[in-house]
Amino acid sequence: MSDVTFQPSLYYDVVARDDNENCVNFEKQYHVNPCYSNGGLVTVQCGLCRQDMTLISASLLDPQPEVS
Ligand SMILES: [Zn+2]
Repeated sequence: MSDVTFQPSLYYDVVARDDNENCVNFEKQYHVNPCYSNGGLVTVQCGLCRQDMTLISASLLDPQPEVS
């Protein structure tokens, strides 16, 4: 995915897929909302294999959620 440039310190709606064929989550997609772009980087890590998932889509949340 190369059409989204993440800006730092904002919240995004992200869909990510586990591409590790050795993982039971292989090809499963996960919807993460809100997903925080820490330092302009968005990574979604599989809780089982600990690999970074492939980002399928991402959109900036508008308005940004209020997080206390
Ligand atoms: Zn995995």
